[in-house]
Amino acid sequence: MCYQLVVVSALTLSEMRSMLPSGVRADALGTLQLAAWRPRFRGAQTAAHLRVGRCACRLVPGRFRGAHSEEAELRARYRRLGVPRDVMIAALDRHRRGAFDGEIVPADTLHAYVAEHARNAGPALYALGFGAADEVPGVPAEVRERTLAETRDGDDWLEEDVAVRVTR
Ligand SMILES: [Zn+2]
Repeated sequence: MCYQLVVVSALTLSEMRSMLPSGVRADALGTLQLAAWRPRFRGAQTAAHLRVGRCACRLVPGRFRGAHSEEAELRARYRRLGVPRDVMIAALDRHRRGAFDGEIVPADTLHAYVAEHARNAGPALYALGFGAADEVPGVPAEVRERTLAETRDGDDWLEEDVAVRVTR
């Protein structure tokens, strides 16, 4: 279902939550999923979705830059992926229903979290996925290293289907 962002960290879920910007939620993945992430991140204690509402779309505004609207962009991408119409409608509905009513999520919200984590709690792994199905992104084969400075401008650093390890 549209964009999903998983963060893997050596922190506990409540420690992660204590640094979240307003409007952003962290929901832990199950222990089996955490186990699947462990080989990609030593010392992983928590794997969680980062979301605004039901998806991560509002955390990656750069993905929608120049689009007529978020929904138009999502629709076009689902069409390119050949997603059946009923699945697309359900996915758009989740995207829409999950929106915090009237809450503005500033463009640098994700970076604020990434920076806070890197400075105060060490490295974390971020993985962005896209799809119409209601499932979390799989564990990518590849892990790329990025410094905090490289994540400052926009969200191009957050490549899809690659796990990105952000260090200070
Ligand atoms: Zn969405």
